[in-house]
Amino acid sequence: MQNNKRNLITGGSGFLGSHLAKSLLKKGEEVICLDNFFTGSKENIQELFKFQNFEFIRHDVTEPIKLEVDKIWHLACPASPIHYQFNPIKTTKTSFLGTYNMLGLAKRVGAKILLASTSEVYGDPEEHPQKESYKGSVNTTGIRSCYDEGKRVAETLCADYQRVHGVDVRIMRIFNTYGPNMRFDDGRVISNFIFQALNNKKITLYGNGRQTRSFCYVDDLIDGMILLMNSNYQYPMNIGNPKEFSIKELANLIRNLVNPDLEFEYKDLPLDDPKQRKPSIELAKNILNWEPKIELKDGLLKTIDWFKENLK
Ligand code: NAD
Ligand code: UDP
Repeated sequence: MQNNKRNLITGGSGFLGSHLAKSLLKKGEEVICLDNFFTGSKENIQELFKFQNFEFIRHDVTEPIKLEVDKIWHLACPASPIHYQFNPIKTTKTSFLGTYNMLGLAKRVGAKILLASTSEVYGDPEEHPQKESYKGSVNTTGIRSCYDEGKRVAETLCADYQRVHGVDVRIMRIFNTYGPNMRFDDGRVISNFIFQALNNKKITLYGNGRQTRSFCYVDDLIDGMILLMNSNYQYPMNIGNPKEFSIKELANLIRNLVNPDLEFEYKDLPLDDPKQRKPSIELAKNILNWEPKIELKDGLLKTIDWFKENLK
């Protein structure tokens, strides 16, 4: 029998997918997590098996699949630069074919579908802060292009499935997010700095550390994701925290929270590393009545506690 709350989460054993799954299960909804465990882990979903409404499918989204679902949360794609650059052709395939397969499924069963897109569609932005209307400044052939262009074409597929087939799409442009369940070895800046600080290693600053990012705690992001899915808004929407920090400020904050004696080590800036990033969230405020609540320091403390527990 059709249950009107059956959710499919692709990338469900990853960082964001596992938090989303837990949040939906706690609301009493049914959740099927689908993942190929490229960057996700069994540990992230272990506690979810206690919910009767939870199921897991090991599958690669580049292959089609038939399922009866009502909402598709399409998150499957490696998100950290070291992981998406590990096999860049597979990353582009995952974004293109994975999104194509999930849109096909949404069309067939009449499900709503939310694409986890990214601030990377803006590339190294010339407009600051970035509004959804900004078209972006993306290198088509650089080392980040597999991810950036993959997500851009995924957004295009969503828009075309909406126009041509009437599929009910949501396009969420996620800005840098952090929290428990991140991999300590994923190379992203917050997990790297916390891992280094807890292990008394030097904190690695790429370039001069003056490049900026805006960091959203995962609980705020998942609230925004669920509100967007439940809205009627079918165009791209930024979800992220608009408070901007230089990477050096972030390093100082984490150092002071863990061990103020740690040293910095300067390394080369990776190619095409965006110089600045900060979302305009006016659209999310107006349409979803959403804005993040958790301050960076508070979110970092929760994340550091989780890393301490899980690095044992
Ligand atoms: P993550 O790497 O922790 O999770 C991605 C999940 O997708 C993993 O569980 C991985 O095993 C799975 N996956 C990858 N390729 C797959 C495939 N071909 N088939 C099936 N499963 C596959 O990353 P995350 O931070 O949880 O990101 C989730 C989504 O959100 C991604 O689409 C990412 O692009 C997007 N996003 C995340 C952030 C962020 O700051 N975390 C920012 C922007 C966008
Ligand atoms: N970064 C850094 N040291 C690290 C890891 C990352 O200085 O150990 C920098 C990186 O060059 C970038 C920023 O932190 O400018 C955010 O990097 P991350 O990989 O987390 O995300 P993205 O670049 O995709 O926003």
